[in-house]
Amino acid sequence: MSQPIFSAHDVSKVYRSGEVEVWALRGVDLDLFEGEMAVLLGPSGSGKSTLLNIMGGLDRASAGTVRFADQELTDYPDSRLTRFRRDHVGFVFQFYNLIPSLTAWENVALVTEISRDPMPPEEALSLVGLDKRMDHFPSQLSGGEQQRVAIARAIAKRPQVLLCDEPTGALDSKTGILVLEALDRINREFGTTTAVITHNAGIREIAHRVFTFQDGGITQMHVNERRIRPQDVVW
Ligand code: ADP
Ligand code: MG
Repeated sequence: MSQPIFSAHDVSKVYRSGEVEVWALRGVDLDLFEGEMAVLLGPSGSGKSTLLNIMGGLDRASAGTVRFADQELTDYPDSRLTRFRRDHVGFVFQFYNLIPSLTAWENVALVTEISRDPMPPEEALSLVGLDKRMDHFPSQLSGGEQQRVAIARAIAKRPQVLLCDEPTGALDSKTGILVLEALDRINREFGTTTAVITHNAGIREIAHRVFTFQDGGITQMHVNERRIRPQDVVW
């Protein structure tokens, strides 16, 4: 860990609908260091997803700046922001969004076909422990396996950052561990900077740093002296 690869500075986000204003973020600062595993905790509605989406170029801040390596994303036009996201960011969401009529391999290949320097789909699937499931359709896979296909799809383009929004939210804890193990392995093996939003405070120990959100701000930052592996978490 050394340089910040991501810097959000004084980021605010307000949603307006008629007379109603919702401040999703109120002047948040967040640096993510290259190669780090960060966990984002906090109650529902505290702004975690909004910040992740802004950092990954899915959404825009109302105020403040977002920088990625030497790129200042804040004023990028939409087309350039989309290109940044495609080249550098892998997203994983709570629901896997796989295409039901395509096999695991084909779901990953959809992304590798449009990437600049992809790994073969079979390599990405094998990294998440699915080398024996490549020809299965989503309906033939468990929830945890489907989520691992989604992770394979996200990493196959070799992104520099992996942003995961409640990746274990729909899974039981045993299956969730396999998903976290996949993220942990990718982070350790490739040094992919990773941020994971979760409601499960139990998994905070798998991160280098833990950020706690409250009412649109980060109220606490905790550094783990000893980061443990997901399989060693006591649930
Ligand atoms: P979290 O991920 O921590 O649950 P969010 O970032 O999703 O929180 O939401 C933060 C706040 O912004 C909440 O009050 C939520 O209702 C509001 N919000 C999020 N997205 C929208 C939107 N598209 N339109 C209006 N309000 C939104
Ligand atoms: Mg959320």
